[in-house]
Amino acid sequence: MIDLTKSQEERTDRLHGEAVVIDTHCDTLGHFLPQPWPRRPPRSLGERSDQGHLDLPRMVEGGVTCQTFAMYTGNRAVVPDATLRALQMVDVFYREVEANDGIVAVTKPDEILAAKKAGKAAGLLSMEGAEPLMGDIDLLRVFYRLGVRMLSFAWNYRTPFADGLGAKRAESKLPDLGVQALEEMGRLGVVFDVSHLCDSNFWDVADVMKGPFIASHSNSRAVCDHQRNLTDDMIRSLADHGGVMGMNFAPGFVAKENPTVENVVDHIDHIVDLVGPDHVGLGSDFDGIGQPPAGLEDVSKMPNITRVLVKREYSDEDILKILGGNHLRVFKEVLR
Ligand SMILES: [Zn+2]
Repeated sequence: MIDLTKSQEERTDRLHGEAVVIDTHCDTLGHFLPQPWPRRPPRSLGERSDQGHLDLPRMVEGGVTCQTFAMYTGNRAVVPDATLRALQMVDVFYREVEANDGIVAVTKPDEILAAKKAGKAAGLLSMEGAEPLMGDIDLLRVFYRLGVRMLSFAWNYRTPFADGLGAKRAESKLPDLGVQALEEMGRLGVVFDVSHLCDSNFWDVADVMKGPFIASHSNSRAVCDHQRNLTDDMIRSLADHGGVMGMNFAPGFVAKENPTVENVVDHIDHIVDLVGPDHVGLGSDFDGIGQPPAGLEDVSKMPNITRVLVKREYSDEDILKILGGNHLRVFKEVLR
């Protein structure tokens, strides 16, 4: 599908091997637990599965250095007690990582680089939607102590911290609690994630925050018109803050019909044209989406992103930034 010359293939292998590849979102943790719905037997990190999109053997094959594992608890119809579910996800994250020599749990950028040097993968814990915090900033500090280093305030619903896309009121602002939580995250060193926020809350975050924030798994709305993607103005603002957006492989966010890995790179092209090469990265959403685009069927196919970047004649420097260097820059700035 992606025709490369021999020297382009060699360049792909060299760059992908050299890169610190960072993916800022997957929903795999839920698949390690008994699923409330749909009922399937739990998978494990260490065992290669033909189900879903991500496990350690496939991460290694795909050359992923650091995978962010999100705790998603936002759907109350399925998860009545978000805090309990999140704590179970913290537990299963550490149990799965500790059961496998090839991956370490990390909270700092130095630990990601050390893992890469040791030939290991790294796992970073994040929270998608602040439901487990029960409107209490004390619980933000507790989850920080448990290793959470990335947080979004809302999935698709309203939480005490923000309005998700499905709960928006026209021009709603962040509640005071959301602003207080942003300040506390800045003090602790937790990366703030705007993916899933309603547009007006995005702009309030952009007003309130001085430093970088990320959109862990959102694409360009100009390339594919979906509310989960960011408008060009939002992308400019995210870039002005020094932030990064991770490219989501959810088919409906990539292209309207028959999405492929080339369409994912179309989003990267657009963002690079708009704000330069320093503000785009990867945020697959593996195990949280339906059938991924052709060429990105699971995490083992991640090198196909690099192959398309090579085919489109991106420089070595820009490819290394897009694969993970940009996200690493934000981690260095925010995580302590
Ligand atoms: Zn999501």
